[in-house]
Amino acid sequence: MRIGVLGAGQLGRMLALAGYPLAKEFVFYDMSGSPSAGIGETISDPKGQRLDEFLSKVDRVTYEFEHLPVEVAERIAAKTTVHPCPRALQICQNREAEKTLFGQLGIPTPQWKIADSAEALRAAAKELGCPVVAKSNTEGYDGKGQAVLKSPEDAVAAWQSIGHPRLMVEKFVDFSRELSIIAVRAECGDVAFYPMADNDHHQGILRYSVAPAPKLQPHLQSEAEDYIRGLLTELDYVGVLTLELFETTNGLVANEMAPRVHNSGHWTIEGAMTSQFENHVRAVSGHALGNVEPRGVSCMINIIGEHGEIERILQLPYAHVHLYNKQERPGRKLGHVNILADSYQELVWRVLNCAQFLPGCPEFNSSLISKG
Ligand code: AMP
Repeated sequence: MRIGVLGAGQLGRMLALAGYPLAKEFVFYDMSGSPSAGIGETISDPKGQRLDEFLSKVDRVTYEFEHLPVEVAERIAAKTTVHPCPRALQICQNREAEKTLFGQLGIPTPQWKIADSAEALRAAAKELGCPVVAKSNTEGYDGKGQAVLKSPEDAVAAWQSIGHPRLMVEKFVDFSRELSIIAVRAECGDVAFYPMADNDHHQGILRYSVAPAPKLQPHLQSEAEDYIRGLLTELDYVGVLTLELFETTNGLVANEMAPRVHNSGHWTIEGAMTSQFENHVRAVSGHALGNVEPRGVSCMINIIGEHGEIERILQLPYAHVHLYNKQERPGRKLGHVNILADSYQELVWRVLNCAQFLPGCPEFNSSLISKG
């Protein structure tokens, strides 16, 4: 079976690496002009003129990237099987639609309002009570297009700095940590849930994910499963879906979802019986799902901006290095290291030992350390 992937970055690369053992072939469709997957055929189409050629080469289509025009996904869905459905893409591209759906499904969110002018932003900040986070309603990712308002008087500066005609304004959530749940749904409706990951971001970019999230109260895993199951069912979703959540003293609060394999699930490559990538390939190909149980405990460390002392990391017997074949650039995800251990105590020691070889890597500040 030939799987067409919309987008050609590292997520596509890892999908292909997981799909080859199942005898899948991959064709990537890139509209960005800078594909980096580096394996499989890539159709580069910045002008959008080669879609039919792409479709003639594939049996199924999926995405590794959600910021592509929904019209493109719909055009494809009219001709071939696309998983997940374009509606999932449409919702994830629009924070207002996403938060509205969460509300309809009983998934808790921060209190929010929409602002379409600096004055409306000021009023929203006042009504919600500061601090608030203002985010571009569309086209935002990795914390870009966002501003925190400490007072309604910050509205004009925030409006100008974001420079977007419509903003999602959220009450700032006083969270103890950030978590994510990754689920996968098969064509036949079977669903499986990975254990939640504890995610540590720096400057808006994920740096560390620990899974299973340490010291997680078991009812929170099942609450998160209920929330993401609701989304999978409502969207008649096929493939991997990720839901990002805040842990608070009042329980879980949803931030956003991603209709694809996710950075906070890279630990599953060695850390779970079946990786998120293989399970996505299985789901979109119409196969049964693989076992999602963890093998011990894992931490994923993102390699960002520069590669650091990779040779030293390669010498660590417990580190699995994944490089994306990309040039160094500040803030760019270049690869990740997966570290496995039999206990959290051993994991902490291994992560600290590995992180010293990654220059600029912020201190490991997981709940494992910060909360004793
Ligand atoms: P997003 O682009 O929505 O994923 O936001 C990027 C990061 O900003 C999140 O991972 C959080 O660290 C932070 N953040 C977003 N929304 C909120 C919020 N309502 N309250 C507190 N922090 C937030």
